[in-house]
Formats: sequence, C-alpha cells, structure tokens
Amino acid sequence: MTRRFAGDTLLVATHNDGKLQEMAHLFEPHGVIVTGAKAFDLPEPIEDGTTFVENARIKAHAAAQATGLPALSDDSGIEIDALAGAPGVYTADWAETESGRDFVMAMQKTHDLLEVEQAPFPRTARFCCTLVLAWPDGHDEVFPGIMPGQVVWPMRGEQGHGYDPIFQPDGYDITFGEMDRWEKNRISHRADAFRKLIAGCFG
Ligand code: IMP
Repeated sequence: MTRRFAGDTLLVATHNDGKLQEMAHLFEPHGVIVTGAKAFDLPEPIEDGTTFVENARIKAHAAAQATGLPALSDDSGIEIDALAGAPGVYTADWAETESGRDFVMAMQKTHDLLEVEQAPFPRTARFCCTLVLAWPDGHDEVFPGIMPGQVVWPMRGEQGHGYDPIFQPDGYDITFGEMDRWEKNRISHRADAFRKLIAGCFG
C-alpha cells in the first residue's frame, strides 16, 4: 500500500533552481508548498549509485534525514540501446569538463560512439526519470517514468537542455530541442513519473 503525503511542505532534494521551479509549478494545483535543498543549506550527497533508483534514493533519504521533512528527489538520464544503455546514470558526467558541463561536447561524443559502433537506424533510446519520495522514518516510494525515442544527428533545436537536440521522441518528427516546453512537459519521462507520484501519494 502506497504511503500518502500528509503534510503541507515538501522538500525537493535538489540544488538546481530550474528543477525546483519546475516542481513548484507541478505541485501548485495540489496545494503543496515546495522548498529546496539550498533553503536548508544541505550538502550535496555523493551520487555513487549504479542505477537511477539508487541515486534518487541517496538524495531523497539524505535530505529527509537532515531536515525531518518528507523529501522528493529525481534522477534522470538517457539510455541508448546500441551503447548497452550508456550513458544512463552517467548522462550528466559525460558532459563534465574542467570549466563546467558542455552538452554539445557530450552529444558529439554520443554520436561519435554510435558511428564507431556502426549502430543501425533507428538508434533507439529512452529518457528515464526516477522520482523517490522519502520520509524521515526511512520509508520511501519509487516512481519510474520513461519516454522512448531515438537518437538523431545532427543536433536540432534550441529549446530545452541537456541532450534534447539529439532526442526524437516516438510519435514525433521533431526533437525535444525543437518542441515547445508545454508539449515536452506534457509527454516527457519526468511527466510520466510525476503522474504516477501524484496518483500514488497526492491523489
Ligand atoms: P541528474 O540531474 O543527475 O539527474 O542528471 C540528469 C542528466 O540527464 C541531465 O544533466 C541531462 O543531461 C540529462 N537529462 C535528463 N532529463 C533530460 C531531458 O529532459 N532532456 C535532456 N537531457 C536530460
């Protein structure tokens, strides 16, 4: 039986202002006040899990333990079939440089590897998002979301973030980078996980 969220304030275990704003927006209709990790000066835990669920659990439990509030975290990335599921949980790591994250470099690397592998078309892939809601007593609920599609080249579109310009979701002939935000937020892996979270814990 899924545990319901009973309070009025939810801690979103992220230091990323964009993610916090997106969550605050998504929770607005449900009367939930959303606050972020920065407001509590929480340290960023080391994400050394090997799956999305493990990493999301690390973040949510650390924040719930530190604050005594229920805490929500998300971990996400892209899995590419011809690369045996890579970059997967290492999606953000592939973009790391000495001067910050460079997603154009990460997308070029992804394409180059697919070319080396002579990966057949369509180059099937999926964006994954796992949401974990953890309580201070150690209980948690896990909600996975996916958006299937394919990796395309060259990069297309200026909208969005991360790997959006090389990901074409199933049922569309445009990339996430070419799609307007409203449409992407309606169909994305994050929206899929969020719908399950709302139905499970906030409905
Ligand atoms: P996280 O913040 O540790 O979960 O890292 C997730 C990484 O996956 C991000 O840095 C992005 O590179 C990538 N990612 C996740 N969701 C999306 C998306 O919707 N579009 C593009 N890239 C994404």
